[in-house]
Amino acid sequence: MSMTVEHTVNPSPSLAGADPDQPVPFALTAAAEKPAERTVATLVAGVPTVITCPSWCVKNHAAETDVMCIEDVSHAGSETVLTVPTFGGGTEEALDVRLVQWPHCQRGRPYVSLRSPGEDCTDLTAAAASAFADQVIAHGVALRQLARQLAAVELLEDPGAGR
Ligand SMILES: [Zn+2]
Repeated sequence: MSMTVEHTVNPSPSLAGADPDQPVPFALTAAAEKPAERTVATLVAGVPTVITCPSWCVKNHAAETDVMCIEDVSHAGSETVLTVPTFGGGTEEALDVRLVQWPHCQRGRPYVSLRSPGEDCTDLTAAAASAFADQVIAHGVALRQLARQLAAVELLEDPGAGR
């Protein structure tokens, strides 16, 4: 026995009579197109200073005490850290990425900061970061293939292991 429940969805008044297979028209407003900024207070060489912070910055500028000149002001987004297992059951941070900007330096545009252990941070443009992401994804695909290959080998050597 099967039960059928019918649902009726009423289109919004503005879409009444519109072809349901056609895309719904929309437009972005200027506020939606431009990411929000905020102004925050900080100390520059001990002098209270108001700076403009991009929407992606998570830095607590009010707590900074080492800003000696306006060129020292930088913005930083939240970190994404890849940890890898190490011998002995531990973990190690292998890759740390985030958005960074030093707005008052000569090259003041935001960039993707990439840091691996023992190395200084490197700065990547959007295109370079995207290309590197493709490499990381390809590496992950290869790792997954190795895991499947190992699982098949384990199953051949011990057919009961997979249960
Ligand atoms: Zn900031």
